[in-house]
Amino acid sequence: MIVPAPSKIVCVGRNYPAHAAELGHAVPEHPLLFLKPPSSLIGNGEPIILPQESDRVDHEAEVGVVVGRRLRHAAPSEAEAGIGAFVCLNDVTARDLQRSDGQWTRAKGFDTFCPVSAPVRDVTDWRGLEVVCRVNGQERQRGRVEDMHFAIPDLVAYISGIMTLEPGDIVATGTPAGVAPLADGDTVEVEVSGVGILTNPVMVERGR
Ligand code: MG
Repeated sequence: MIVPAPSKIVCVGRNYPAHAAELGHAVPEHPLLFLKPPSSLIGNGEPIILPQESDRVDHEAEVGVVVGRRLRHAAPSEAEAGIGAFVCLNDVTARDLQRSDGQWTRAKGFDTFCPVSAPVRDVTDWRGLEVVCRVNGQERQRGRVEDMHFAIPDLVAYISGIMTLEPGDIVATGTPAGVAPLADGDTVEVEVSGVGILTNPVMVERGR
């Protein structure tokens, strides 16, 4: 798990043009930001729980950045130097609630909706990273960092102009095309080249 625990998880929407298109959107003029609560974090091997409120919960495989030092109004070069580690991240999303609510706090914020892998600090060629999602061994998503609309240092710099980024905070950098629903009994994997593989079983919520 991430140590220290993040004060926030800042996520970027529609950062791969093909994914924006699959949901019927254009790439935004500025990075589209939202937050996931730290209470949504789980680690490798822990179950993603499909809540009773949703009929469609999607995987979103992403490259996650762990902030290494405090950043406020950082330039992109400073933001890049402030990257502490990379993680595999799954921005689990209740797609039906995302549409019906009009804003995304509930859709993105359920407990267990932010699986992350152990952080890897010695990623030298982050521009060459590739993210892949597999469900039950079948590939569903594949994207390269170089396909992002907003590059990682620009994203981190932009966010730091809005909210101070603290060491341990996580930035989820967007998901490539191929998002699809998860079902009870699935196993979902997010692999980031050179970072690792994040594996989580999927279970429906039973009782409350
Ligand atoms: Mg996402």
